[in-house]
Parts: sequence; C-alpha cells; structure tokens
Amino acid sequence: MYTRTAPDPINAVVEEIRDHRRYLTSGRSFLSKNRTEDQVIGKFQGIAGATITADLQIVFSERKKKGTWEQENVVKFAAIVRCAGHGCSTPEHKVPATAEFLLDADAETAPTALPVITAAQKWAQEHAEKCRALPYDGS
Ligand SMILES: [Zn+2]
Repeated sequence: MYTRTAPDPINAVVEEIRDHRRYLTSGRSFLSKNRTEDQVIGKFQGIAGATITADLQIVFSERKKKGTWEQENVVKFAAIVRCAGHGCSTPEHKVPATAEFLLDADAETAPTALPVITAAQKWAQEHAEKCRALPYDGS
C-alpha cells in the first residue's frame, strides 16, 4: 500500500522563501511585497471528532533599512491553530511571531521557523487530547 508522508515543513519554507525572492527580482508587480503564506503543518482529530488544524504563517514584508531611506525585505514566522469543534471554548490559538530575518539567506532562515512549528503542533496535539467539542453537523 502506498502511504503518503507529510512534507517536511522546513523544505516547504525554503521553497516559499525562494519563490518570494524570485518574485521580487522578477519585477512583476501583481503580487505584494507584503503578504502572508499559510502552510498546513498538522491536522489532528479531537477526541470527539472535531478537526484541529495547525498553520504556519510565513509573513513577508518590507521595512526601512536602519539609518537609510532604502527598503529591505524581511520574513518572520508565526503560527495559528484552529479547532472546528462546535462550541469549542478555545477555537483559536496563536503562536507569537519570531523576529524578522533578512530575506537574503533562505537556507539559514528557514530553520528559525522550527520552534514556532513545534509549539503549534504541540498545542494542537494537546488540544486534540482534551477537546470534547463535536464537529459541527449543521444542527
Ligand atoms: Zn476544540
């Protein structure tokens, strides 16, 4: 039987950063320099069946270079966990964002997302173990 394995989130982050840098150097203007890319990093099932999803948020932005008028491109990482349980008392949990990193060094920057990923997955796992909210069935 063929089993699908979830992709390594860090590889996915590296890809996203490369895509964004490619976009920045391409001169295309239909995408914003300030955008957030969401990446699913975990899906859990609560003990009553509700789905709990953990998303890593890759936040690209532009800021002014210290002491100059130049702009520089940065990235930071945050995460959000959402529980779809009907009446769940904590349907949303946010993992605070990391510091901003210059977009110049993708391979080195990506692993800084790890603590955020781990914190979100851990919270989602723990929530799944105790959340008794049922999936919403329309009634
Ligand atoms: Zn819940």
